Amino acid sequence: MNKKIIRTLSTVAILGLFSCTSEEQRLRSAQESINAQDLAADTKILASDEFEGRAPASVGEEKTVEFLGKEFQSLGLKPGNGGSFFQEIPMVVITAEPGARLEVKGPKKSFAFAYKNDFVALTERVVEEVSLADSEVIFAGYGIVAPEYDWNDYQGLDVRGKTVVVLINDPGYATEDPALFSGRAMTYYGRWTYKYEEAARQGAAGIFIVHETEPAAYPWGVVENGWTGPQFNLTSEDNNMSRCAVEGWLQLETARKIFEQAGQNYDELKKAAARRGFKAVPLGLKASLSLKNSVKKVTSRNVVALLPGSKRASEYVIYMSHWDHFGINPGLEKDQIFNGAVDNATGTAALIELAEAFKKLKRPPQRSIVFLAVTGEEQGLLGSEYYAAHPIYPTAKTAAVINMDALNTYGPMKDITVVGYGLSELDGYIESAAKEQGRTVNPDPTPEKGSYFRSDHFPFAKQGIPAVYPSGGTDSVEHGKEWTLAKREKYTAENYHKPSDEFDPNWDLSGAVDDLRLLFKVGYRLAMESTFPNWKEGTPYKAKRDADLAAAR
Ligand SMILES: [Zn+2]
Repeated sequence: MNKKIIRTLSTVAILGLFSCTSEEQRLRSAQESINAQDLAADTKILASDEFEGRAPASVGEEKTVEFLGKEFQSLGLKPGNGGSFFQEIPMVVITAEPGARLEVKGPKKSFAFAYKNDFVALTERVVEEVSLADSEVIFAGYGIVAPEYDWNDYQGLDVRGKTVVVLINDPGYATEDPALFSGRAMTYYGRWTYKYEEAARQGAAGIFIVHETEPAAYPWGVVENGWTGPQFNLTSEDNNMSRCAVEGWLQLETARKIFEQAGQNYDELKKAAARRGFKAVPLGLKASLSLKNSVKKVTSRNVVALLPGSKRASEYVIYMSHWDHFGINPGLEKDQIFNGAVDNATGTAALIELAEAFKKLKRPPQRSIVFLAVTGEEQGLLGSEYYAAHPIYPTAKTAAVINMDALNTYGPMKDITVVGYGLSELDGYIESAAKEQGRTVNPDPTPEKGSYFRSDHFPFAKQGIPAVYPSGGTDSVEHGKEWTLAKREKYTAENYHKPSDEFDPNWDLSGAVDDLRLLFKVGYRLAMESTFPNWKEGTPYKAKRDADLAAAR
């Protein structure tokens, strides 16, 4: 359908509302105030070169959080953290000197691999130097210990002081066997974050994940950009000394060479690793690597704004987006600024649009609405992890979290994709708001990419707060499914986490506007109720929620 016709139809729909109560009219006009021009204008500012790619603790951060604080203030929202619009987050920045070499010695041959081209490595330990010195190399399959799936890649293995090489994703993905893990859908065991955590628990000195584009869900360039340059982390009491000394990735070709050097075949061992009963394989090789770091303590900020509720102001619905991106990489030849326009200037601009819409209501909803722009998402969900560990609003009084990350720029969709669909009672709210728009709700079309573990709602889920991440759609009204999926794939391959993720005046943001209007309804309804939504039976997050709600009663 042509856009003019759609606009005429919605005008007719508005005119038809004269018979409704003024309350409903106000709700409708607040919802309709969300529009593409405003969304584009704010996205353009946040993604401009002037904001320098919005890295935490940079000039770009200053500009970004100041802009957001001012916007929220001028909309008439209250500072969300006592008297402040900001929640300060202590971080440590570790920058490894480039040029490190990974040496792998075998009984016959030795190889040296080049930083960035062949591998990346870093340390989370807050120290100026870490090294692996002739550390024994072991292939530990998927590097997973999962009692509930009866799986243990570290069974009978002592990896203390050793270096493990592991595969990305999980055996369910690899075999597509629904009886293994979650079948093709990635479990948390498939995420690199988990693999590093587990290797540290096992006492390994080093861990390298073999990069493969499909199971990792992104190309080597993303690893190369993300794992080199300044690395941010939350500070911890033990200075992260409980982490492995070295964490890294190997290019697939590097891994093949290493396995060959050990007289093994990578593809065969990879296949074997996905079978139940697989036993880790010592490769008979020794790895050496030294990383020199500069270490700096910094403070970054979450931005928090509050619209106090009109009846139950001490209960909350949170809208969240991460404001940060990768900043500037002076090592790049051409464009050095990671503008992060789609990811996540769009979601951040959406917070402003939603705040404005809620302010348009004559009377705020009964519960308070929180607008939370978090920092350090790209560096490992740092701002949301920190908030979840130091919640400003009690978790038991937080009805739900709606996370927005990278809005749809491809126009109207017949459906809305919800990452986390099927996990909580939030499903019903989204379904009914979607139905009002004549749209359907779809689960994540690519659960093998592990998106549920890759954005800011996840730390909230771990704290028991029902959290969803609605994320565009898969079926364009005008162009259909194949076209939409191709567009999404193209973005991942060409622009995701690259300097080319820039604002484009040719985007069609009308689909994003549909999504935000839908999410406005969802948040509004949650804020008008007195009950607290929960997780569905059988989800790993329900026990925490049950305990929280029981304790608050
Ligand atoms: Zn993002």
